[in-house]
Amino acid sequence: MDCHHFIDGREVVEPGARYLDNLAPATGEVIGRVALGGAEIVDQAVQSARAAFPAWRDMRPMERGRILVDIGRAIRVHAARLAEMEARETGKVMAQAAGEIEMSAQYFEYYGGLANIFYGEVINIGAPYHSYTRREPFGVVATILPWNAPLNQAARAIAPALAVGNTVVAKPSEETPSTLVEVARLAVEECGLPPGVVNVVLGTGREVGEPLVAHERIRKVMFTGSVRAGREIGRVAAERIIPLTLELGGKSPNIVFADADLDAAVAGAVRAFTMNAGQVCVAGTRLLLQSSIYDAFLDRLVPAVDALRYGDQDGAVFGATTTAAQFERVRRFHDLAKAEGAVRLTREPPEPAAGKGLFPAPAVYAGVTPDMRIAREEAFAPILTVLTFEDEDQAVAIANDSDFGLGAGVWTRDIGRALRMAAALEAGQVFVNEYMAGGIETPFGGYKNSGYGREKGIEALTHYTQLKCVTIRI
Ligand code: NAD
Repeated sequence: MDCHHFIDGREVVEPGARYLDNLAPATGEVIGRVALGGAEIVDQAVQSARAAFPAWRDMRPMERGRILVDIGRAIRVHAARLAEMEARETGKVMAQAAGEIEMSAQYFEYYGGLANIFYGEVINIGAPYHSYTRREPFGVVATILPWNAPLNQAARAIAPALAVGNTVVAKPSEETPSTLVEVARLAVEECGLPPGVVNVVLGTGREVGEPLVAHERIRKVMFTGSVRAGREIGRVAAERIIPLTLELGGKSPNIVFADADLDAAVAGAVRAFTMNAGQVCVAGTRLLLQSSIYDAFLDRLVPAVDALRYGDQDGAVFGATTTAAQFERVRRFHDLAKAEGAVRLTREPPEPAAGKGLFPAPAVYAGVTPDMRIAREEAFAPILTVLTFEDEDQAVAIANDSDFGLGAGVWTRDIGRALRMAAALEAGQVFVNEYMAGGIETPFGGYKNSGYGREKGIEALTHYTQLKCVTIRI
């Protein structure tokens, strides 16, 4: 099926449109084509969002919220079909795709409920004055999205932006646009979302992403993706003096102390680096083991990883790498591990034959030191690097010795240690005794090169509003 831009409440096919083949990474089949737009289509979408803005901003928030909740309902009604579309396009296993579609519905429901509460405060500066703040939307917000959790990332960015009265031009990854276009259509056709409030433009970062960020009517950018693109967008945003939320990569430490529940920690460590074939920004890919449990822990972890079913096997817990370029990056990462002298503890299955699906094998590397590139760079793959530490101070030093600061896991039965570690770790999220604990309600974002600004939770709304203070002499 062909996937087209969605602007002003309808599909738009440009005269003489260019297309990219849409490949299913699990089979290598062409499953359709994706339109490739440029600056003209971006302008059309931004003008549509601009025209829709005043009425959407001025709508009674309860009405806006009702529409968002209804989009959540529509996602649930069409969940099986959306999960199938997304599993085919990304190579995810169905259980993972279904879970992400469920969370997408939750974002619209949650922010639909919050639409009514986020408006400012009254400030008392003495009797002759009345002073108050208003939280106002920016106008047209651009959301630029990656391919690893397509609808989920889109809902996470779009629902809070809409809740507080912004309109949106969204640019999904050119590799995985279908579910967002479909939900934008359902929102207009089944949920009463006014045309122009959400527009979706398709194409590459260069041809569509760049003109979108540079467009004079874009008043705020929300970007999820690589550090490289985040830097480029940051330069443009600085020039234009517009606010930016950056959700970038990670190399998150997962730290296990000797006093932890080791069964839970082994299961948690496996899930932390293999979920979604490791294509998770907050994946726990640096395992830090207290030296006294190093051997015992790996004696359990390695067989557990070798026993994982993955790829096209029945009951697979993760599927394919979503893009061919990313699959190449995974290969290069293994070459780097070899070149740096790391020891692969897990089985090394034969490479998949060409055209047989981009299925990465899970891998655990020991003999790793904190200065090696494989301990510092993001692989975005099911690859775990194992390091050791002696005590809390050394664990904190190794964990924080990173350009990134997205997540960190701590496994311990000592509550004092858990609290000390949580305070000392340089990361936007700390998970204690369950890696990736949390939900759509818990604020999410990075320290250091992992980005700035926050998504999820009530906190996200502060990043989609600007504050005005009004003071009246009575
Ligand atoms: P990417 O940066 O290559 O692309 C992301 C999006 O930006 C795509 O839509 C792309 O077309 C667009 N783009 C690229 N260059 C651009 C430019 N100069 N101007 C405007 N738009 C541009 O990233 P990717 O390979 O799609 O995603 C993988 C990366 O995303 C990983 O590093 C991962 O850690 C990160 N990620 C972060 C989070 C988070 O919440 N922190 C979530 C998911 C993924």
